[in-house]
Amino acid sequence: MTMLLHACCGPCSMYPQSVLQYEGTVYDMFWFNPNIHPEFEWNRRLENLQMAADHYGVKLIREGRCLEDYWLSKDYLEEYGSRCAMCYDLRMDYTARYAAEHGYDSFTTTLLVSPYQQHEAIVETCEKKSLQYGVKFRYYDFREGFRKGQNMARDIGLYRQKYCGCIFSLEESEFRDKILKSFES
Ligand code: SF4
Repeated sequence: MTMLLHACCGPCSMYPQSVLQYEGTVYDMFWFNPNIHPEFEWNRRLENLQMAADHYGVKLIREGRCLEDYWLSKDYLEEYGSRCAMCYDLRMDYTARYAAEHGYDSFTTTLLVSPYQQHEAIVETCEKKSLQYGVKFRYYDFREGFRKGQNMARDIGLYRQKYCGCIFSLEESEFRDKILKSFES
């Protein structure tokens, strides 16, 4: 039986992958992150996730595209209350549904490695989607390995971003100007 590991980026995948490898879990990685803007960054993170997948010799499935216009529209605020609630729901809904429809026995996400994410909200969303689609959510608290994973990413030369992903988080980042400059390279 195979797990579907939703991955938000290469660096955040490193520690969770090392855990899954250690425990002998068979998994495919899954890219569905329409929250990453602009498109240049969406492509850059995807390329680096492919490098992380290659490092462990696992399959990477790619779905979706950059949806900057949707984030900017804020059409979702009435339904979800916040952009992050929508963002978690959108990504975990697609992941759980994909897992159920393609014969995976379970799913989890590398979002659970980041101390900067809303951990409990992600868990709650995953549990809801698990029930909705009838596929097991495997909970891991990967946060203790966050630094280790970032170091592993540095060691294999992965790009390590300095903002969460959406255009709003880019604008809020203290590294905004530096990030914008990096898009020109
Ligand atoms: S801050 Fe991060 S989690 Fe929140 S909407 Fe933006 S990309 Fe998604």
